[in-house]
Amino acid sequence: MPTVKVRMRATGADGSDDRSALVPVMRSLTGAPTVTKPLTIIPELQTSPTVEVRDLSFSYRNRHAAPRPALAGLELEIPGGQFLGIIGASGCGKSTLLRLLGGLDRPTSGSISIAGHDPHEVKGRGTIGFVPQSPALLPWRSVADNVALLDQIGPWSARHSSNHWVDPWLDRVELADERDLLPHQLSGGMQQRVALARAFALEPSVLLMDEPFSALDELTRSHMQDLLSGLCAETRPTVVFVTHSIDEAVKLSDRVVVFGGAPGHIAADLLIDLPRPRAAGVEDEVEFRRHAATIRQALVAHAFEAAR
Ligand code: ADP
Repeated sequence: MPTVKVRMRATGADGSDDRSALVPVMRSLTGAPTVTKPLTIIPELQTSPTVEVRDLSFSYRNRHAAPRPALAGLELEIPGGQFLGIIGASGCGKSTLLRLLGGLDRPTSGSISIAGHDPHEVKGRGTIGFVPQSPALLPWRSVADNVALLDQIGPWSARHSSNHWVDPWLDRVELADERDLLPHQLSGGMQQRVALARAFALEPSVLLMDEPFSALDELTRSHMQDLLSGLCAETRPTVVFVTHSIDEAVKLSDRVVVFGGAPGHIAADLLIDLPRPRAAGVEDEVEFRRHAATIRQALVAHAFEAAR
């Protein structure tokens, strides 16, 4: 996912949003620009869709150089409601896969289907949620208005007359008391909780997450993982979660795919059959460590491929 840069000069004299400043935020979170058009509901996308990736390859094209293959021959079926963790060295195509799943790029060859639909057809309908590495909050909007953002200006176009519908989501991420604060008044962990509430408030059936907790300290990160697990157990989206942390991958995932590189491919595919909920301290249990060791070995075996 691209890093989102938000210009500070983004409100008009009346305090309203400058829509041109919102476009990069909207694109990164939903795949849709702010321009709206009426939505048709796709019923099979309403609940935990299966995601199928078939013989997927992608090359970045560059006017001054040969195309750079980032992914080759990827085969992946993600059952509806599964929490899939993806781990791999930098440069092995994890973010590229998320962009393709979100319909932000098109495959060079092969296909992706979300409950039988092309991600391009699906994107911008609120079905696919993104949680990027940076929380990408609009600095002039309150916590509650940031969570309500996509409802107010997205293609969903103001389903609600006030932002109080977001309060249950703020409650779930323990930010009820902060609803009227501005982002700069929050810690990094709180800002990422706002991003989590914003993603879940749209009730996405597919959730794409690109190292969302990587900037947080270990305790805050562990708390965020517990919040995310709880929200996923409740709402059952199909999740693709990219991380560099082996323990995070094991703690959160039903299954972990290890990527190798040059170009990106699946090097190992492991089921994580630990019972849920996975309580604090689960990282110290023997079975947990066994899964972590297997992933580490697969990572080490493919560690230098991306740099070739
Ligand atoms: P990861 O998320 O695993 O770190 P990426 O998906 O970001 O990997 O990148 C995969 C490969 O594609 C890398 O070799 C990277 O240099 C290349 N790449 C990524 N974005 C672009 C781009 N916009 N243009 C050209 N090459 C790119």
